[in-house]
Amino acid sequence: MDKPFSGNQTWLECIACGYRTDLLKERKFACPDCGNLYDVEHDLSGSSFGDLISLFDRRAGCSFASVGLSDGRKSLLGQSGVWRFKELIMPYLPDNHIVTLGEGNVPIVPAGRHLREWIGPVDLWLILEGMTPTGSFKDFGGTVMMSVAKAAGIKTIGCASTGDTSAMAAAYASAAGIDCTVILPEGKVTPAQLAQPLVHGAKVITLPGTFDDCMRVVKELVNTGRLFPANSINPTRIEGHQATVFLLAQFFGWELPDWIALPVGNGSNCSSVGKAMRLMKELGYKRDTSRILGCQSTAARPLATSWRALGSAPTAQRWSSIYLPMDVGETTATAARIGNPASYRKVIREIIASNGMMDYAPEELLNEAVGVCGRDGFFVCPQTGTALACLKQAVARGEIEHGASVAVVSTANGLKFTESAAAKLMKEIIPARDCQTETVAKILGL
Ligand SMILES: [Zn+2]
Repeated sequence: MDKPFSGNQTWLECIACGYRTDLLKERKFACPDCGNLYDVEHDLSGSSFGDLISLFDRRAGCSFASVGLSDGRKSLLGQSGVWRFKELIMPYLPDNHIVTLGEGNVPIVPAGRHLREWIGPVDLWLILEGMTPTGSFKDFGGTVMMSVAKAAGIKTIGCASTGDTSAMAAAYASAAGIDCTVILPEGKVTPAQLAQPLVHGAKVITLPGTFDDCMRVVKELVNTGRLFPANSINPTRIEGHQATVFLLAQFFGWELPDWIALPVGNGSNCSSVGKAMRLMKELGYKRDTSRILGCQSTAARPLATSWRALGSAPTAQRWSSIYLPMDVGETTATAARIGNPASYRKVIREIIASNGMMDYAPEELLNEAVGVCGRDGFFVCPQTGTALACLKQAVARGEIEHGASVAVVSTANGLKFTESAAAKLMKEIIPARDCQTETVAKILGL
């Protein structure tokens, strides 16, 4: 390291009891006093949201020379839609530790005609976070996590995964020159997702169980100091995922949509979106922040089930007291097939803080949503289908008002899930009996 950036500038703080520890020295990622997760905290005294906005807007304008980012390496930092917001994400990290693959500048697009009709009368937008180096939103957090791991001198990193985390961890570890191990549930990860860590040179171990079994093993290895985690129990990832909110705010002229809808698996994205909005408020952002709609499938809905049981006037304390992990069922939304989300306490905190809500969607409806998006030209993952299906239900019930602006976080590229999408559509393939032009013309009625 050139100079320390932890200590009083950036530190880890227990989400329950406030215990503090050093960001660069922590290896077990559970509070020694109460066992809870950590948040990353920064000393942002003296930061003004107004000043930061003008800096972020200048960087987004791609005039790298005008913001001192014209030389090769700094230009790469300027291109990242995560590091554009460095002053809110990891302000004191020296630039020479940054590990980036150019992630984060994802499209924010209005929903197409078919999806608008299917969802109902809201002002609907998609942030396409599958358009990143490894094809999922995980890269937003991966670039930050791996940069801090590099600064901390970590040599080996590891994670449990339903697919997307392993792809991210393996890609960013190889970019950082760090060894990577991934632990996956056997037969529950798509071939495309399995190919990614292998291509990036990670050690791949499969367990004959669920993701929750893999996560338990990783947690035990981490808590005994034998493995440095790439899962979101390592809260540096959460810092990077906050870019979702900053990108949306910037896109809409530093306003946020009424609602942000997203799938909830292990809970990192929901935690980050809520944390980013609270941070904006703390730094003087005056407008309304978004309410969060957290979305799960019927097969894996531990948080949505307990949310629904809360009734009116929900509180984090009551929700935590009735929350129970569940045994997961089968779903095409395999990346969120998680019965005991590692970040469940943070999800509860952020849904409550944003005056948000949770729901779950049946398998048929989430698959239908993927098909509807496809008709508009967007190939989204089944987890995005879960978010869209829950949004449709919320609009139909009047829980989301007509005319509200809604951004749906599309978390991964549909190309990672071609098996589930193609299996449903195979019957629509028309086999011709020979290779003659006239045979094809006849089929087409030409
Ligand atoms: Zn604690």
